Amino acid sequence: MLHTLSACELRERFINGTHSAQEITSYFLQRIQKYDPQIRAFLEVLENDAMQKAKLLDEKRADKKPLGAFAGVPIAIKDNIHIKGKKTTCGSKILENFIAPFAATCCELLEEQDAIFIGKTNLDEFAMGSSTENSAFFQTKNPWNLACTPGGSSGGSAAAVATRLCPVGLGTDTGGSVRQPAALCGIVGLKPTYGRISRWGIVAYGSSLDQVGTFSTTVEDTALLMETIGKHCSKDSTSINIAPDLHRAELKNFKKNIRIGVPWQFLEGLDKDTENNFKDALKVFESQGAMLCNVDLSILKYSLATYYILAPAEASTNLARYDGIRYGLRSKEAKTLDEVYDYTRDEGFGAEVKRRIMLGTFVLSSGYKDAYYRKAQQVRTKIIDAFKVAFQSCDFVAIPCVPNGAFELGSKKDPLTMYLEDIYTIAANLTGLPAISLPSGFSKDAKPLGLQLIAPELCEKPLLQASYFFQNETKFPEHIPHLFKD
Ligand code: GLN
Repeated sequence: MLHTLSACELRERFINGTHSAQEITSYFLQRIQKYDPQIRAFLEVLENDAMQKAKLLDEKRADKKPLGAFAGVPIAIKDNIHIKGKKTTCGSKILENFIAPFAATCCELLEEQDAIFIGKTNLDEFAMGSSTENSAFFQTKNPWNLACTPGGSSGGSAAAVATRLCPVGLGTDTGGSVRQPAALCGIVGLKPTYGRISRWGIVAYGSSLDQVGTFSTTVEDTALLMETIGKHCSKDSTSINIAPDLHRAELKNFKKNIRIGVPWQFLEGLDKDTENNFKDALKVFESQGAMLCNVDLSILKYSLATYYILAPAEASTNLARYDGIRYGLRSKEAKTLDEVYDYTRDEGFGAEVKRRIMLGTFVLSSGYKDAYYRKAQQVRTKIIDAFKVAFQSCDFVAIPCVPNGAFELGSKKDPLTMYLEDIYTIAANLTGLPAISLPSGFSKDAKPLGLQLIAPELCEKPLLQASYFFQNETKFPEHIPHLFKD
């Protein structure tokens, strides 16, 4: 029953000799073989590499060499993060055969600490979406309800961890792509402060919003991941140059009399089921001495519109590099240079990516730039300011992570309806603030929901302390989807 263990516990078993790294790895590979055909979390399972690495780790332990913080722990990596020498498809036909020529800094740091990369996970094409349905390859399913989405865009990593096909995973979060799937799959998802984890080796979507995030079933594992990858990196000009916090050692130091700000006005019209779940989650803190206060974040009603101008604008410039010449696919039909661009993009990109490139090009075009792009930047600044004011009267802001439990695959055909899914997660990306989604129980129809806590910048430490407290009080991590218990 190794799948019921956290990453910290698995490492412990490996270090003290209860299990070899090869035993642990083959256990999870077998689980993937057994269950992934139902879930389809993985685009590629790195079976040989993982077993080879495990063998090396067993030798390392036999030789009594020092073992890293992730020794013997399998981890899933979203397929827009580079593992050197492996494919990075971004869930897109345009990069279907692209091999990463270098490693992402976060993967390098994990590797240094002896983690075992077990596979690359499915995602919405170029991380654009909230359901993983925009993957050019296949859909991933929610382990709690196979007719439903696991969320997106990092739905593969979230579903893999929730199904316990591996204890931890990495995703990226540009507008909620770690927190939303974490909530819908009933696990923990953290998006740290912008700049905490290097973006080097992450395929760019919206560069001023993109941040690597973590998936785990316990807050302790989130802390372990942050200790390992939350480090300054000179290759990323936006990487914050401060020493990493040692989170795990201090997880228990939670000061219970915190003040939690709730933007009730912004939350008006919340679904009843979600509201009840949210209020119950807040009571967990209240019963131990926390105080709730109302904060004015009514400006967040503009956050969705702001995001869906800025993110496509940045995407349209970032994706200009896929021209049929420098990366990936080149259309075989093309005869002229213009046709190389046109046909390659037509064949290589899916509908949502095309939509965003066109939208982004439009909002940046002369004549419209001031009306849309510049205006959206101004609103972004106002949202940042509103949070600064809010944090004068509270330690954290709490909001639900998702408007509802997981929706059925294929049920949101209109892109605008899909965009509304992001209403509660986008603010943390526009502001760069750290935010976490914690399992907060289930909706009436037995779908997981998530409590979201947003902290002031660089306050990951108190955020994880509060999260650790919440998880210990609620014990939600012990839930495993019934189909995949054994
Ligand atoms: N759902 C949002 C979008 O489609 C966020 C995606 C993300 O965080 N990568 O853009």
